[in-house]
Amino acid sequence: MSALVKDRFLSDCRRELLQLHAVLMQELAEAAGKESQQGHLLVELRACEEAIKRIDIGSFGRCKICGEAIELNRLKAEPTTSCCLSCSAKQG
Ligand SMILES: [Zn+2]
Repeated sequence: MSALVKDRFLSDCRRELLQLHAVLMQELAEAAGKESQQGHLLVELRACEEAIKRIDIGSFGRCKICGEAIELNRLKAEPTTSCCLSCSAKQG
């Protein structure tokens, strides 16, 4: 992947994650009083924030377990993912 394509991919992901973050904050506000739903939303919110942080520090797209590049399609489908397909499969 060229640097330009990568930059564009990262900024697309970042924008998507920021949108997701806004949606999750909204859902969290609407889920007031529903603890189990809030817990689930908080987990997603945390994953979203961590993904944005990984973009900012330049480790986005690297598996946190084996350090290999995460499949591009996987990242596109789920930008909050932090490990590659095979590590994720091993984790169950
Ligand atoms: Zn891995």
